[in-house]
Amino acid sequence: MLFDVEKIRSEFPLLRGNAKLVYLDSAATAQKPQCVIDAVSEFYARDNANIHRGLYRLSQTATTAFERARERVAKFLNARESRECVFTRGATEAINLVAASWGGANLREGDEILLTEMEHHANIVPWQAIAERTGAKIVVAPIFDDGSLDVPAMKNLISEKTKIVGITQTSNALGTVNPVAEICAAAHTAGALVLVDAAQSAAHFAVDVQAIGCDFLVFSGHKICGPTGIGVLYARAEILEKMPPYQFGGDMIDVVDFAGTTFRGIPGRFEAGTPNIAGAVGLGAALDYVSALRPHAQAHESALLSYATEKLCTELPEIRIFGTAKEKASVISFHLGDIHPSDVGMLLDTFGVAVRVGHHCAMPLMKRLGITGTVRASFAFYNTFEEADRFVAALKKVRGMF
Ligand code: PLP
Repeated sequence: MLFDVEKIRSEFPLLRGNAKLVYLDSAATAQKPQCVIDAVSEFYARDNANIHRGLYRLSQTATTAFERARERVAKFLNARESRECVFTRGATEAINLVAASWGGANLREGDEILLTEMEHHANIVPWQAIAERTGAKIVVAPIFDDGSLDVPAMKNLISEKTKIVGITQTSNALGTVNPVAEICAAAHTAGALVLVDAAQSAAHFAVDVQAIGCDFLVFSGHKICGPTGIGVLYARAEILEKMPPYQFGGDMIDVVDFAGTTFRGIPGRFEAGTPNIAGAVGLGAALDYVSALRPHAQAHESALLSYATEKLCTELPEIRIFGTAKEKASVISFHLGDIHPSDVGMLLDTFGVAVRVGHHCAMPLMKRLGITGTVRASFAFYNTFEEADRFVAALKKVRGMF
């Protein structure tokens, strides 16, 4: 068997120990396989010391483990060098870093920051903050009613005023997969840089920064089976080298004197203070684990998406699915008739089905769709067809209650 989902589930203690749970909220955070849990706990049990500062062997072991994780990230993203990969707390912190550091140094009054209507708040609010500080303006590219990006309209909005484009590779709320390489090429012809939000996409398919041609890319460890509190900012070395530090303190300096301080090179200059060392080690293990399952895991997710979508539409004709783009990750956002999404979510929970309800941190997108929220079922490679059946059966029971 190419993809043995039962064997994979047995590697996830939370899924193994919860036969009644149908976990369909992996877009919020993914469950963790034993190898990731072991990598974190073994680091604390065997290798724990602070990094980059100790001359003793244990500290060097810890430093090596941390820097190996960085190399693992670089390989995962196909970055040219590991120094292009900065460890952050997650995608949110990585975007804040770029907005504050690169944006603070480069944006001026009249400049434009181009986003899309489907961005997560994490790829909107940091840009609003820096726009307010610098006088730059936010411009928003529209989407079509099926939740796909209006690419020609977005390209038309790119001009010499555009200094940075922020675009999600995969929408967390709709599952839409965007043609980010095409947008990068269009932005570069106008001299603009591009930040790709890969918080969702990294969990579903290979993300290759060189093939995309992006200048910045961010993702969070916890959505790809890694620990919480660790994420990555990828940035092209020549851009990162020119960016001022984002936070200040220990480990990011070269020489400190009350007369003035000099800073380390990249990426250390952007990693002030003691980082999440065990988190980085756990992330390295998660990337190894997920990479080894590809491309079969991706094919399994696509099959689950098609199966669940078809079953929902045939067995629950009143369902309204938001996000039906041709290129779509395994996310189904919907309304069940006129039952409030919160009621659907709470009642599904009584049948052991865990889904997310609400605006999914995408309030502008909800406004564009003329709704306040949806129910979102997000499938990962460890979900089964039987779980999709249980999800639909539970929804039918919920419908029967109204
Ligand atoms: N971008 C997208 C598309 C997301 O789905 C999320 C989280 O849901 C984020 C950014 C922010 O990720 P984090 O909360 O891990 O920083």
